[in-house]
Amino acid sequence: MRDLTNRQYYLAFRPDSLPGPEHVPCRDVPVQLPGEGEALLRNIYISLDPAIRGWMSDAHNYIAPIPIGAPVRSTVIGRVIQSNCRSLEEGDVVMAVGGWEQYTTGPAAAMTKLDEHAGIPLSSFLGALGPTGLTALFGLMEVGKPRPGETVLVSAAAGAVGSVVGQIAKMQGCRVVGIAGSEEKCRWIKEDLGFDEAINYKACGDLEAAIRQACPGGVDVYFDNVGGEILDAALLCLNKYARVAVCGWISTYNENGAPGPRNLWQLVAESVTMQGFVVIDYMDRFAEGVDKLAQWLLAGKLQYREEIVDGLDNILPAFLKLFDGSNQGKLIIRIPE
Ligand code: NDP
Repeated sequence: MRDLTNRQYYLAFRPDSLPGPEHVPCRDVPVQLPGEGEALLRNIYISLDPAIRGWMSDAHNYIAPIPIGAPVRSTVIGRVIQSNCRSLEEGDVVMAVGGWEQYTTGPAAAMTKLDEHAGIPLSSFLGALGPTGLTALFGLMEVGKPRPGETVLVSAAAGAVGSVVGQIAKMQGCRVVGIAGSEEKCRWIKEDLGFDEAINYKACGDLEAAIRQACPGGVDVYFDNVGGEILDAALLCLNKYARVAVCGWISTYNENGAPGPRNLWQLVAESVTMQGFVVIDYMDRFAEGVDKLAQWLLAGKLQYREEIVDGLDNILPAFLKLFDGSNQGKLIIRIPE
């Protein structure tokens, strides 16, 4: 182990807009051997999430910014290759907070052991059965609180979170309308996932009019993944006592000083509740959530798409796909074992 080299992509300085190779350069360093109570992982999958862009900035957030000089932070799935603790053995596969790197060393207490023989692809523990699936489940059910017969509108609807939100809302007996950025994405959510309507926000012209047309009875729950102009249009279409679940504002992550929403007065006009949340608010219920998502998955009630990009050296161009919309579902880097 002592001779192993760890390739890392680290944060050299903080980007003002989209990160480039100058912000996230590469280096080869000796692998850090595990201390007492720690394990060393060879990473197999690295999750690429829009939130990582937020952690690159030093603005106040729900977790600390990535320190300058540290590997870019990501959730990883890796195989234990050296263990200095009782709970993990060599060969175990775990999920952990790691980085854009080949090897991650960390406390075993913060690693979750996964069953690689459960008949479920390991990568799905980063998506539909992992953080993004749980975000959809708890954000919709606990914050959006949909009731049968209500209309649920979701943005970034063909993405990792949005596509699961829409399917769970359908299971609750809701009318579901998705907003997405291409005809292909709109076709997928309608024809394969069973959304009632889909709006291509890049081609529809007047978005408010398009939402009104797709939601003739108004919107009762808006699950917001993007913020910006789409949020502003959605605010104008809310029903009395509607709920807005603020999951993410990806349209602002690369824009320093992006303007805030203009139509917040609608919260007063329609007695609306708008609530932000992070999935880790529900950490003590993750096991229950994974069970529920797995049951739906195995029963064929929940579908998902993953885009798996091979090779650590492709990590930055792959990450940028989240911001031009060219990712097809949950975006993951694979480092072949
Ligand atoms: P997605 O798989 O949805 O990928 C991101 C998508 O966002 C893109 O494919 C694109 O879809 C859309 N997008 C990008 N830029 C813009 C823009 N300027 N305007 C409108 N849409 C845009 O990613 P995730 O499902 O992982 O994340 C979705 C949201 O959920 C993000 O805001 C993320 O930060 C948030 N999130 C929040 C969590 C929480 O705990 N609160 C946990 C996980 C995610 P399109 O082609 O449709 O434009």
